[in-house]
Amino acid sequence: MISRLRRLFRRPTPAPLSSPVPWVDDAVWAVWSRRQAESTTSPIWEPRLREVSADDRLRAAKGAQSGIFCPRGTLEQHEQLLRSTPPVADGMLRPYWPVCCEALATLINAEGAGHTLADIEAAAGPLDGSHLEADLTEDWTPNSPQHLAEVVQAGYREEIALMRRDGGLGDGFNVFQCRRCGRVYIASCET
Ligand SMILES: [Zn+2]
Repeated sequence: MISRLRRLFRRPTPAPLSSPVPWVDDAVWAVWSRRQAESTTSPIWEPRLREVSADDRLRAAKGAQSGIFCPRGTLEQHEQLLRSTPPVADGMLRPYWPVCCEALATLINAEGAGHTLADIEAAAGPLDGSHLEADLTEDWTPNSPQHLAEVVQAGYREEIALMRRDGGLGDGFNVFQCRRCGRVYIASCET
């Protein structure tokens, strides 16, 4: 009887919404769209698109290719795509957004929302080398070329170790995967 009543009064759980665009993964979209959108613009504010460097590609963790490919194009076209992302409740501010294989990489974890770090690393390997040179070195003057090399070599290793310990991505960090080659990148955004 009680279970029948429960069934009668249980509110249906809304099905998680799938992402309307291939540059945001379903797992991120499901979290972003839990609440009603108040904004009428793209949830991705002032993205900093950066083509990954040859070194970034070499260092990056690599998982399997999957999902709908993002279209190839110029940085301007990619920026237009990000701008065309439908409004949703959550979003991100000034993210570094990797462009790999001439296409937008797909956002798979936005500051903790999306696939877990543990799942991502289980599938693609450790993200210790998955940072973008541009993210680490822009707006910054190194003391020496050696200093610069050390910073790029270190990447986000320390931060990632803390994330593993704490069980999630910290504020200000996002993870992307190129659906064309499977490479995974970690990059910062403003909080
Ligand atoms: Zn790629």
